[in-house]
Amino acid sequence: MLKLSDSALLRDRAYVDGAWIAAHSGDTFAVTNPADGSLIIRVPAMGAAETRAAIEAADRAWGPWKARTAKERSAVLKRWFDLIMAAQNDLAVLMTAEQGKPLAEAKGEVAYGAAFVEWFAEEAKRVYGDVIPEHLPGRRIVVTKEPVGVVAAITPWNFPIAMITRKCAPALAAGCPVVVKPAEDTPLSALALAELAERAGFPPGIFNVITAGDPKAVGGELTANAKVRKLSFTGSTEVGKLLMAQCAATVKKLSLELGGNAPFIVFDDADLDAAVVGAMASKFRNTGQTCVCANRLLVQDGVYDAFAAKLAEAVGALKVGPGLEGDVQQGPLINEEAVLKVERHIADSVAKGARVVTGGQRHSLGGTFFQPTILADVTTAMAPSREETFGPVAPLFRFKTEEEAVRMANDTEFGLAAYFYSRDVGRVWRVSRALEYGIVGINEGIISTEVAPFGGMKESGLGREGSKYGIEDFLEVKYLCMGGI
Ligand code: ADP
Repeated sequence: MLKLSDSALLRDRAYVDGAWIAAHSGDTFAVTNPADGSLIIRVPAMGAAETRAAIEAADRAWGPWKARTAKERSAVLKRWFDLIMAAQNDLAVLMTAEQGKPLAEAKGEVAYGAAFVEWFAEEAKRVYGDVIPEHLPGRRIVVTKEPVGVVAAITPWNFPIAMITRKCAPALAAGCPVVVKPAEDTPLSALALAELAERAGFPPGIFNVITAGDPKAVGGELTANAKVRKLSFTGSTEVGKLLMAQCAATVKKLSLELGGNAPFIVFDDADLDAAVVGAMASKFRNTGQTCVCANRLLVQDGVYDAFAAKLAEAVGALKVGPGLEGDVQQGPLINEEAVLKVERHIADSVAKGARVVTGGQRHSLGGTFFQPTILADVTTAMAPSREETFGPVAPLFRFKTEEEAVRMANDTEFGLAAYFYSRDVGRVWRVSRALEYGIVGINEGIISTEVAPFGGMKESGLGREGSKYGIEDFLEVKYLCMGGI
């Protein structure tokens, strides 16, 4: 049994219209700990009917919520932020139990997730419109911004709190109610957030969490229901495309944070030690399971061997184990499917001539633990070149010129995050502009913060989250044309 100082944060009901409810059918599904496969608790397996009820509750609650002043909404968000931070330890234990990440990373995510709530509590008060100089005498042109309406949020398991707050905080700040469907692997963090939202004083219907073991029926209702005006989704490109198609019939606004295939380029003139630190942080955070994790390490000929040796030393020192245990740096992968993908990428690379520098196998701890791995001599013919590995595998590609590096980096349908290390100021400007990515880390491996816009180009998605841009995605622009003046 999980030891929480506030046991009410572990919920086994979904949260709809201010009430904690079971599925109509009474069905539940298991939430398990990926470190040992043990059952944590069972939660409701909901479907279309419960989802419709949540949407209707949200729609009813919308009018009074948007009618509040921005300062009033901001005050509720600030209380939510304070409650999340006060519960940081419990939320981290809950997250590590259901998701597997090391406890220190889970604590970091709680703070990172809470930071979006704080940021958008502040931004709520800065939703400004415009007055435009009129084009005809006797007219006035005014632009206002209004909340889009009921928002559906479908979120992944890799950041069980931050992916929810990054969507819901700007929506709530703007005046929109939300219906959240968290990933089936990690509903407990979402339910704990709902408990804290209730305590913070969000009115019934403003923040709803629907749990489902099979997401199709819930996703079907969220995308088909005309009362939902916007869908914000983070997850795989495949599911994102499906949801986008499903939203077409009702022309919903969309924010999509989809897959990446992040290049991490190390030029000859890089500070190699700094590049290793950045590569470790970018590649191995969350055991390689983030959409901005370095997926392809492109290393220039002249420093290839030196970089590989330094990286191997750092990877060899990583401590693997259950996330709740002390100083562990690498937890288990989320499930067996994730391990199979990692194994497939390694096998495909090795079959085509890549070399395992370190790791390459399942870890002796068993279950879904995997050895942190480095592959050398990886080429564009191999699986990691095309697909996101989403695991602790660092594939090293070799390049000769800057032009070649940029070409390789952009040779993908994805465009979320890219990284490069160089100390040549001209190259820094040239490569920054040439990379077709929404986020570029220059001599930095960790780029996420609530104050900057997060999002991708190409098939990595639509819209931006966080920063002053993040609230715009939840606002409609209205133009008032006044005559007879
Ligand atoms: P991952 O590969 O990271 O698990 P998914 O795209 O499968 O990514 O999952 C991200 C989120 O999308 C999860 O909440 C999942 O339940 C949800 N999801 C998956 N398939 C569907 C679907 N057909 N309709 C609605 N939501 C879905």
